[in-house]
Amino acid sequence: MTDNAQELASQYHVDLYGRYPITLTEGNGVYVTDTEGNEYLDALAGIAVCSLGHAHPKVVEAVREQAGKLMHISNFYYSKPQSALAKKLVEVSGLDKAFFCNSGAEAVEGAVKLARKYGSLQDKSGKIISMKNCFHGRTLGTIAMGKKKYQKGFEPIPKGFEQVPANDKKALKKKMDDDTVAVILEPVQGEGGVKPIDEDYIKHVRKLCDRHDAVMILDEIQCGVGRTGKMYAYQHFGIKPDIVTTAKALGNGFPIGAVIARDKVADAIKHGEHGTTYGGNPLACAAANATLQVMEDEDIPGQAAEKGAYFKQRLQQVAEDMDAIKEVRGKGLMLGAELRFEGGPVVEEMMKRGVLSNCASGNVMRFVPPLIITKEQIDTVIDVFIESLKEVEAHAKA
Ligand SMILES: *Cc1c(COP(=O)(O)O)cnc(C)c1O
Repeated sequence: MTDNAQELASQYHVDLYGRYPITLTEGNGVYVTDTEGNEYLDALAGIAVCSLGHAHPKVVEAVREQAGKLMHISNFYYSKPQSALAKKLVEVSGLDKAFFCNSGAEAVEGAVKLARKYGSLQDKSGKIISMKNCFHGRTLGTIAMGKKKYQKGFEPIPKGFEQVPANDKKALKKKMDDDTVAVILEPVQGEGGVKPIDEDYIKHVRKLCDRHDAVMILDEIQCGVGRTGKMYAYQHFGIKPDIVTTAKALGNGFPIGAVIARDKVADAIKHGEHGTTYGGNPLACAAANATLQVMEDEDIPGQAAEKGAYFKQRLQQVAEDMDAIKEVRGKGLMLGAELRFEGGPVVEEMMKRGVLSNCASGNVMRFVPPLIITKEQIDTVIDVFIESLKEVEAHAKA
């Protein structure tokens, strides 16, 4: 125990998280500082959240101003920030309508409810198909779609959810029928180990959903809002989903999520059938409006594409030189390097050297830095990654 926040947490916070022994106090751009005065280059960005970096002046200003004006009113009334954000999300997504919530899992729950409501109008029984190795959150409904290991101990699990292996067209075709309400997938699986789904497969999902009048839900909570080089990842493929879920980077750190849908599906739900107290309150929407404005003004998705290509190429060089890396994958600034061993110790070595990183799915180093990261800062991450890999390999041999 190195400081009071850690002692207090060990005594008073439920033991949910395996945490690193640092207490962070401040952030600025891609850097964060701890209580000991150590500075870290944050290549995790609060798990793909702080895409504009920490304490972005325009987001901070928007939050300050709105906090002093009106924070919360409930959804019994209209607010300017919420209506403006709904319009913006419709414009950037190419879909028709949006509604708000406070987190990713809640957005997925909203999407599933919307899809089921649409399906119920056609007398479907509610079957939802997800991909093996997916991640959609930690509520009961979202763990029902996800990995078995997150369900253990929380039974009974909600029913009506089935899985198919991603990228297997035949398996999906076999599983889908006129009773299928929806297919849900992440265009790039995040927690599952940074696995981009084949373009071909995504188009196949679109085709089968059309054939069976099922709802295509894309979970863009991690890969969306510019990270892959487009505002939403499906925009690389020239298709549109019926519903897209978005959260994480949407408020650049202020909690907010949204469900964006086509009219066809959105029209199935009427007022009183879903709702939330906080969802889309003026404060959260002001943060998101400011975030999206900066995204647009500074072509942040374009920056993610360019810097992501540089980062990926540097990782591929490392992979050529070092046997430790099995594969490099990802899109834009959502990158993964699959190791031949567990990644936990590498994350620790990187932290000792001043870079915050993360390991997903046991052995995949996941890099989801702020999209404003510079090439020089990417070089630093790469240098530290190489040193840390060498250190861990040397330890393993000793
Ligand atoms: C993080 C994540 C979620 C869950 O979001 P929370 O805000 O943690 O509830 C859902 N889907 C994907 C793809 C995610 O990456």
